[in-house]
Amino acid sequence: MREFAYLRASSVAEAVAMMAATPPDGGPARYLAGGTNLVDLMREEVERPGRVVDISRLPLSAVEDLPGGGLRLGALAGNTKVAADPRVRRRYPVLARAILAGASPQLRNRATVGGNLLQRTRCRYFYDTAAACNKRVPGAGCDALEGFNRAHAVLGASPSCVAVHPSDMCVALAALDATVNLTGPRGARSVPFTGFHVLPGRTPQVETVLRDGELVTSVDLPPAPPGRGAYAKVRDRAGFAFALVSTAALLHVEDGRIVFARVALGGVAHKPWRAHAAEDLLTGAVPDASAFARAAGVALAEARPLRHNAVKPVLAARLLRRTLAELARPS
Ligand code: SF4
Repeated sequence: MREFAYLRASSVAEAVAMMAATPPDGGPARYLAGGTNLVDLMREEVERPGRVVDISRLPLSAVEDLPGGGLRLGALAGNTKVAADPRVRRRYPVLARAILAGASPQLRNRATVGGNLLQRTRCRYFYDTAAACNKRVPGAGCDALEGFNRAHAVLGASPSCVAVHPSDMCVALAALDATVNLTGPRGARSVPFTGFHVLPGRTPQVETVLRDGELVTSVDLPPAPPGRGAYAKVRDRAGFAFALVSTAALLHVEDGRIVFARVALGGVAHKPWRAHAAEDLLTGAVPDASAFARAAGVALAEARPLRHNAVKPVLAARLLRRTLAELARPS
């Protein structure tokens, strides 16, 4: 592992200042929270920071009610804590289920809300420093394009990168219309969750809209959505595996019609994929198999499978249809 400077911040302002003070020739600087992804990447020399700013002791771990009925998840709130919070379980069960669908209990105890947003792709070529990877070394090429790409993207990919975002939690946050709160050298700002992650385009090394030195401080959930929500995931083995495909869906039916629908897909793109066209199609429709099949068709209409992952659009469409049907079933 490359030698690096270790700094521990005692306030958000100090953390941002420490990050900004990184000498230009000192290599990139990284914030360290739970370390469940960054430490692995440093061991593998995929990440080689010159400076690590430890933010794990900052007062950002609370889960707090917001005026108007929403909930604020501190960036350092642990995944276990968030999934077990009675307010999350009652008002946002889709989020609790998504968190519990990801990782082992030990990892969930360490992993944080902010870290979940910022975890890197699990593309095997990204982790293999002998492979060509535009995300790791811009301009190097992408060995996944012609390699074994079963786990890769079918939506929103580019010739530069076909990686997927690995998070389960983020798929639920996309469906819930969450907001990400940031603080950086130029002050505080908020961005809609669906605009936080970006598609690869020609710069797959850029994964979010974070500016230099910015820190995720919290994620806000709006008031609880109406109706019911569910998170469903297909993976290669029953436990502790990343999603081949997943879906977070919210559905509210009144007087025999769908009046509220939110659909997000995971494991299919460089970012959690919000399926707005499917939501538009569902809203006002009778909640039946035909509507769910059309919604799934629209959600995957732009899918462009690679050599080894033609199964993904099929799986994702089936999973979405099944999840919507379960949500529409009288309880
Ligand atoms: Fe790298 Fe993206 Fe290609 Fe994977 S898919 S090798 S992360 S450029």
